[in-house]
Amino acid sequence: MKLPVYLDNSATTRVDPAVLQEMIPYFSELYGNAASRSHIYGLLAKDAVENARDHVAKIIGASPSEIIFTSGSTEAANLAIKGVLETYKNKGNHIITVATEHKAVLDSCKHAQKNGAEITVLDVDINGIINLNTLQAAIKKNTILIAVMYGNNETGVLQNIKKIGAIAKENNVLFFTDATQAVGKLIIQVEDDGIDLLCFSAHKIYGPKGTGALYVRRKSPRVNLISQIDGGGHERNFRSGTLNVPGIVGFGKACEISMNNFNEETSQMKCLREKLEKNLLVDGQIILNSGNAPRLPNISNILFKSIPANSLISEINKDVAVSSGSACSSASVEPSHVLTSQGLSENDAKSSLRFSIGRFNTESDIDFTIKTIKKALAKFLS
Ligand SMILES: *Cc1c(COP(=O)(O)O)cnc(C)c1O
Repeated sequence: MKLPVYLDNSATTRVDPAVLQEMIPYFSELYGNAASRSHIYGLLAKDAVENARDHVAKIIGASPSEIIFTSGSTEAANLAIKGVLETYKNKGNHIITVATEHKAVLDSCKHAQKNGAEITVLDVDINGIINLNTLQAAIKKNTILIAVMYGNNETGVLQNIKKIGAIAKENNVLFFTDATQAVGKLIIQVEDDGIDLLCFSAHKIYGPKGTGALYVRRKSPRVNLISQIDGGGHERNFRSGTLNVPGIVGFGKACEISMNNFNEETSQMKCLREKLEKNLLVDGQIILNSGNAPRLPNISNILFKSIPANSLISEINKDVAVSSGSACSSASVEPSHVLTSQGLSENDAKSSLRFSIGRFNTESDIDFTIKTIKKALAKFLS
């Protein structure tokens, strides 16, 4: 079977062959439990996990002891939000987040609300950016957490993380950012950005699915969290459960590769995206969503006015794999909450496609995509 060109790298990425190679021994000979201290199997697994932890910490400028391995970003976001609410309930119960967050964050906030949290959801402007004065004004005496994502998974738009971190710090509020799309595409330094908690995931950066991490700041301030999964006290009591050693090894390798190839990789993605946009944005009926704001280098969210995205997708999906909205919302018929939040009508939101470029895309992929889309558009417009 000839598979289509893959331009859905924001949904997930192919495991890099070098990542897979690194993982294989930990399924076969080196299958120890990283918590077994009494024999070499366990010790080798533990060494491999700690080696991976170094790379995972380094890619965000954290120290290894600040990394908690989880099953992915969704779990890490749950731990950050619910864990902060439980831990800091004596200080307050107010959490500020944004309408365009990933469901992992929005649904964790909803759950927290059922458990007594007060949630403020900030609006965004036409490009998807929050207003920092509005953020500042939303902070109250009982505010304990600001949760704002780094780069959006549907539009790629970037929030002003450094300024948000500074506002959080000035007001003595913790700052959590979902950096799942940003890691590997931007240089992230938790110190410079004033980030207290940060989640990211292996499968968005050419590692395996089912592995991720939560960064939890250890000093100034030292962040405490009440665990959401109990049993055995793994990961310094923040997250119990036998560690997914092969997954963690793959995550570490994925981070290492990403750091080593950062400049070439991000400039290649930018180059390919520029070509895609230049060739697709040819008339006033084709609009780049979030086009007037800083964005991640690999995502183009494009509105094809009055052409339903689902119809366009069925026309091209034997040739090119893209999505409307995020993977989670494209399974439903609802318009993207991200796009409607930034002021698109339901119809426009349902006429928008996300193209997300990755490490393994080539210029010929982009040329082929341009040709395929143009052919499909001609059909719709004829
Ligand atoms: C993919 C994604 C998630 C969920 O990550 P998983 O590891 O699949 O649970 C959360 N936030 C953003 C921004 C994402 O892109």
